[in-house]
Amino acid sequence: MTTETTPGRVATYDDQLLARMNTMLGAMPHGVLLLDRRGQVTLCTHRALELLHLPVHFGLTPYPLARIIPLLNGPAFATENLDGANPKFLSGDIFTFPPDRFVRLTPNPIGDAGTFILIEDISEQILRERARLQAESEYRSLFDNAVYGIYRDRLDGTPIRANPALAALNGYGSEAEHIGAVTSKPTSWYVDSNRPTEFMRLITTEGRVTDLVSEVYRHRTREKIWITENAWYVRDAAGKPIFIEGTILDATERVTNHAAIERQANVDSLTGAANRFRFLRQLEADTAPGMAGCVLYTIDLDRFKEVNDSIGHAAGDIILKTAAERLQAIAGKNCTVARLGGDEFALLQSHINTDSKAAAMAALILETLCQPIDVNGRMIVMGASVGAAAYPGHAASSEELLRNSDLALYEVKSSGRNGFRLYDTEMKIRTKHRKDIARELRKAAATGGLELHYQPIVNSVSGQTIGFEALMRWNHPVMGSIAPDTFIPVAEEAGLMTQLGAWVITRACEDLALLPSGLKMGINVSASQFRSPDLLAHIKDTIRRTGISPSRLVFEITESVLVSNAEVARYLLEDLRQLGAQIALDDFGTGYSSLSYLQQFPITMVKIDRSFVAGMGYQKANQAVIRAVMGIGREMDIDVVAEGIETIDQVEALQSYGCHIMQGYYFGKARPLTDVIADIAIAQLSADEPEPDYEARHDFNMSQG
Ligand code: C2E
Ligand code: CA
Ligand code: CA
Repeated sequence: MTTETTPGRVATYDDQLLARMNTMLGAMPHGVLLLDRRGQVTLCTHRALELLHLPVHFGLTPYPLARIIPLLNGPAFATENLDGANPKFLSGDIFTFPPDRFVRLTPNPIGDAGTFILIEDISEQILRERARLQAESEYRSLFDNAVYGIYRDRLDGTPIRANPALAALNGYGSEAEHIGAVTSKPTSWYVDSNRPTEFMRLITTEGRVTDLVSEVYRHRTREKIWITENAWYVRDAAGKPIFIEGTILDATERVTNHAAIERQANVDSLTGAANRFRFLRQLEADTAPGMAGCVLYTIDLDRFKEVNDSIGHAAGDIILKTAAERLQAIAGKNCTVARLGGDEFALLQSHINTDSKAAAMAALILETLCQPIDVNGRMIVMGASVGAAAYPGHAASSEELLRNSDLALYEVKSSGRNGFRLYDTEMKIRTKHRKDIARELRKAAATGGLELHYQPIVNSVSGQTIGFEALMRWNHPVMGSIAPDTFIPVAEEAGLMTQLGAWVITRACEDLALLPSGLKMGINVSASQFRSPDLLAHIKDTIRRTGISPSRLVFEITESVLVSNAEVARYLLEDLRQLGAQIALDDFGTGYSSLSYLQQFPITMVKIDRSFVAGMGYQKANQAVIRAVMGIGREMDIDVVAEGIETIDQVEALQSYGCHIMQGYYFGKARPLTDVIADIAIAQLSADEPEPDYEARHDFNMSQG
């Protein structure tokens, strides 16, 4: 740099020439500085002044460039002469005027004439470049930090780029290491050697690979891992593929979880037996065309629910687990043991072409399940019911096989449980009959084809009728009279019982309203009705509508109601008691006959079952039980009614035990309301007349209440 400081005129050019050049060059988008040989600025266009943010007088006075450049960069110049703009050397010949102006000075020697300096505004260029760099660094960050492996390969699979995640996935520390080691996407990378072909097929036919899951070897360690791949072609302007780019995610955890889920989906978590889903798949497989055949056993633990409810669910779990273990133990190697739900199990013998051994297998099942089960030191004996059906002998499809095995099971259960039945065609006929009944019953329920009859309940000592029990009657136009014992189980099964039961409540209350107010009405309520949430509301509503006193109603329930849903039953019974209604425990002596129910539930009446009364004559034990029940009844203020009284002997025997309230054919069968009303009217007439010999059992005394 020269230290020349004296401004002076340039001798080479005359003023006029300079002025002309200035006008000419002034039209250019670039600024121009002209230096003489000594480095003195001899010409400075307006544009140059503008671009360099120099004051106008610089154009008038020749300065050595050496003076301008340090000034451009110097603080003194910046503050004194540049109106706050503060230029800096960016690099070499580029000046920056923050925040966003950039100017480039390009010197061009012009021989003896000195130097011609071109001054360009390159702000746009610089800003664009900056933005590009910025964007690139952002992509770079994505590339570097992605959890996905990202790569670009040549079409032959040679890697060009691989990000750190991909390097790590293959067991390498950096991209360079990865690219150095993985020289091509080797076919041996995939555990399944067909995978690369599949990959190429997808990308060539569809242009991309989407979520392709494969097992591969971690490149460095050869450890097996699962990956999910996405890949696509990068094409040139003409659309021709030039690279393959893609992402790779380590999916090992997901795939392993999936396997766990798959396991869960196949196995019953409590017992470890196959679950219904897995079982049905096996059943499908065994009944596929060309299979030898199979035998299916469906198994129910008898009274499991009762045991579960009475000794607790933890105990119930032990029983189920033990049952599954025992079934596994006797199952052969071609057998599947499954828990289909609740206490329902199945054993499927695959690849067997005869049912001849079914009885032996069933006997084995029964035997093993009937062994006492140790439940925390308490030995519990469970019974089991087993139904079986064979494919292809008894069924043409898996559905039919399951249905028929279930039918056989159903027959075991409805004939007293704890046994075995092999499917036979008779069962189908019986099923059809049940179906017919169900269909007809549905019709009857809808068209008022059912009736209620009323059987008297009598105080055998005074002879007074104290009330009636409402009993359903169905007289089918073609099939004739069908007994409730036949159609009620069908109604339960067909889901009709809630509807029928509601109708019974309505009709019985309406009819009761027509009977003298001293008489009560027994209404049977089944377990399924107890499960209906509308029961209480319906009862309240009917009471309100008919205007009867709730204390005239006796709801008759069986032990099964209390057993199957103890908690709900308790609340409902308490609500009914709250209303003022009575609760009778029906059929006492047939089921569990647990006297503890009398303490646990708000029961006000016990009805001793007619089979119990019938056996009284020859079974001494029955007498003892009746005495005991009478004793408890007196103590707890519970009425005891004996049912099914047919003979005077039974009346007298029961009276001798202290049981006075009775129901049975001896006192009268169930009859329609009109008959009952006629009876009452006649009895009243007779009571008005002095007729001392009138038999007590026909005497309806209206005065009691
Ligand atoms: P249940 O509640 O024990 O009704 C008493 C049954 O014993 C009635 O049979 C009645 O006719 C019969 N019976 C009464 N006295 C004698 C007798 O001296 N000897 C003999 N052998 N039988 C006698 P039914 O009417 O055939 O009803 C059978 C069962 O059907 C009833 O037993 C009850 O469990 C059910 N049932 C009847 N109507 C209804 C109803 O409206 N709702 C519900 N949930 N169940 C009903
Ligand atoms: Ca009853
Ligand atoms: Ca009964």
